[in-house]
Amino acid sequence: MLHSEFESLGLMPACLEALRHEGYEKPTPIQSASIPSLLAGRDLLGCAQTGTGKTAAFALPTIQRLTTAANKRQPRKARSLVVAPTRELAIQIDASFAAYGRKTELKRACVYGGVGKVPQIKAMERGVDVLVATPGRLLDLKNDGAIDLSAVEIVVFDEADRMLDMGFIHDVRKIIALLPPKRQTLLFSATMPAEIESLARSLLDNPVRVDIEPEKPAVELIAQSLYYVEKGCKRDLLVHLIKELGVSRAVVFSRTKHGADRIAKTLHLAGIPAGVIHANKGQGNRTKTMDAFRAGETPVLVATDLAARGIDVDDISHVFNFDMPTEPETYVHRIGRTARAGASGSAVSFCDTEEKRLLKQVERLLGTAIPVVKQHPYAGVKPAPTEEDLRDAMFEARSKERMRARGQGRGRQGSPLGAPRGGQAQSPRQQPAPAGGQRRDGRQPPRGGQARQDGQRGRGQPDRRDGSGNRQGQGSPASARPAPRRDAPRYEPPARSSRDVRSVIDEITGRRS
Ligand code: AMP
Repeated sequence: MLHSEFESLGLMPACLEALRHEGYEKPTPIQSASIPSLLAGRDLLGCAQTGTGKTAAFALPTIQRLTTAANKRQPRKARSLVVAPTRELAIQIDASFAAYGRKTELKRACVYGGVGKVPQIKAMERGVDVLVATPGRLLDLKNDGAIDLSAVEIVVFDEADRMLDMGFIHDVRKIIALLPPKRQTLLFSATMPAEIESLARSLLDNPVRVDIEPEKPAVELIAQSLYYVEKGCKRDLLVHLIKELGVSRAVVFSRTKHGADRIAKTLHLAGIPAGVIHANKGQGNRTKTMDAFRAGETPVLVATDLAARGIDVDDISHVFNFDMPTEPETYVHRIGRTARAGASGSAVSFCDTEEKRLLKQVERLLGTAIPVVKQHPYAGVKPAPTEEDLRDAMFEARSKERMRARGQGRGRQGSPLGAPRGGQAQSPRQQPAPAGGQRRDGRQPPRGGQARQDGQRGRGQPDRRDGSGNRQGQGSPASARPAPRRDAPRYEPPARSSRDVRSVIDEITGRRS
């Protein structure tokens, strides 16, 4: 029978129907390992990432227990609470509860910062069965008297290590103090730093432990490549590669918000529709950007590490590490956005002279060197900085100063959005070369040479003409920067067959189970 495996976990018909509607045929390992114990009311400590089916593993038993328990909703109270580090993740979790609970009468609310409080306060007025929240806004609304956590029966802390990284651990402790002692508690964390371990010890009562680690196998499924390129040529190389590599849907990771904006601008001018997502974008804007990316209207999403773990979009063919991450683990999270692609995912990293140290850290973590693409149109090109580069360098130096000052002033000025503590702008950054000092006139990129990717499949011709007809890499190295054209033809990503999420999950998680 089709759903016998889900049935044998003890799930009720309403959940089985929802799963059928989702097209899930069998449980993922984390679901098999967690659901029976959670239905029995046990606490759980889970070591798992997004992509393993973790959300359903905690949402299904929560839905079932809330449905079968006799307790009623009460004004401003939540019967269950899921705490997540980012708004994106909170929204995704809420959507999962909506999908898995479609055959139930459960009421939900999702609260997060960056948007008005009033609709969230209204949503809580009569009480809810499921409340998904980011820590800051949750405490805000609690302090406003709009949320009461005294009736929480089930609480889930998702991506606890990330909450720690983002400086939310104090908020998490405050939230815990507001919960009733008699409850079921679930805690998920991809890694177990000492603080999370001690939190887990104090929080959980004889928990079941579930350990699913998709990261390493996922990395093995991704074709990784590395391009040594100077900072001033990175954006041109990106435009070139998006057109050259048959990119259908890509995420480009920038270390800074300002950098992300600049990348998106360059892509637009080259006819490549791109959305930008970072902390300075309002929530409405972020949601619109994610929707357009999901729908394929914008084939490229430029993001800061805010999005490194939260993006749950299928069919991402390429991840570009425009800047090397300051924390090696971030590299794995970033490229994991394409892990859902199984063997067809590609991760392309750019490394400039000053990022070699960061690259070494990543390679140490991976236990292997990333294959280098030696021949490309910008190999060895050292452009003189433009005025914009100089402005950027000043901007970065200033924001670094500000971050440092704030870091000294306040202990809790952790990394925004999942970057290492100390902030995105604290990474060592490239200073521009003195104007004219690095020009090496006469050095041209190889003419139409075959792009070769060591240890990987060939990459076609690095034609010095980009799709808009601009000549790239001609004349002096400084002119390797093609003049942006406003009339560049729109980039049409190649069609890509849709992937079977189930088999990807089976493949990734099955290796470890
Ligand atoms: P998560 O780890 O919760 O972010 O889930 C990753 C993806 O797997 C989501 O797109 C889910 O819809 C999907 N998924 C979860 N459980 C299953 C399952 N049993 N079979 C197929 N897909 C699933």
